[in-house]
Amino acid sequence: MLCLRNVDYSRDGMKILQEINMTFREGMSYSILGPNGAGKSTVARILMGELKPTSGQVLLDGKDITGLDVTERAKLGISMAWQEPARYEGIKIREYLTLGGKLKVKEDEIKEALELVGLPYELYAERLMDKTLSGGERKRIELASLLLLKPRYTILDEPDSGLDITAGELIENLLSEFKKAGATVILITHHEEIAGKTDFAYFVCAGRVVKKGFSREVVEYYRKTCGRCLFLEGSP
Ligand code: ADP
Ligand code: MG
Ligand code: MG
Repeated sequence: MLCLRNVDYSRDGMKILQEINMTFREGMSYSILGPNGAGKSTVARILMGELKPTSGQVLLDGKDITGLDVTERAKLGISMAWQEPARYEGIKIREYLTLGGKLKVKEDEIKEALELVGLPYELYAERLMDKTLSGGERKRIELASLLLLKPRYTILDEPDSGLDITAGELIENLLSEFKKAGATVILITHHEEIAGKTDFAYFVCAGRVVKKGFSREVVEYYRKTCGRCLFLEGSP
């Protein structure tokens, strides 16, 4: 179980996150839903250890991991697909997917992972990671690499951005693959139809959790409020 407990995050005197409490259980999928600038990526960076909370803790199975960095957390099975995929110029997609051969996977698994994200194996396995790949293709490759790694906790920051209209089905397939492996997915999005595909959801607005629960209920609330924070508009 991965938790954020009473997490605050401030930057340049600005409160970006306030009193964030989130629980991510083994084998379940979660959305973090909210408008642009709500603080979703900041939550992800704090979960990954890229940012340290101003106060509060990150807990893994009850153990305080707030002080651990990205590499240490990756070793504990927490991984992330960044909103802007990294560039690894000059290596083949196959090498990227197998961490340069360090990840021992069968050829069939590479094929399956690529095809699940909509990239035909024959066209992509031997292709170079370079500027000729579109942003969407990079994103799909990064998702395929997480499918092969199958970390205990996978954080996907807006995997739907930069993908086309088939994104919904792709996300559904990803979620079901991770669930089969018993892994936990934390999916960040500002699209309610994508958020509706996970088991549970947190609706984040202006750096706070406004609503949490079954995705269906959270999405319904999000629709009702048009994604705005009612508490910022004069409610007590
Ligand atoms: P989201 O991912 O929900 O769009 P972010 O977590 O990226 O939101 O950002 C939350 C808030 O923090 C926004 O108001 C954003 O402008 C601010 N913010 C993010 N990164 C920085 C930064 N490096 N310096 C100052 N403010 C930042
Ligand atoms: Mg954003
Ligand atoms: Mg973001």
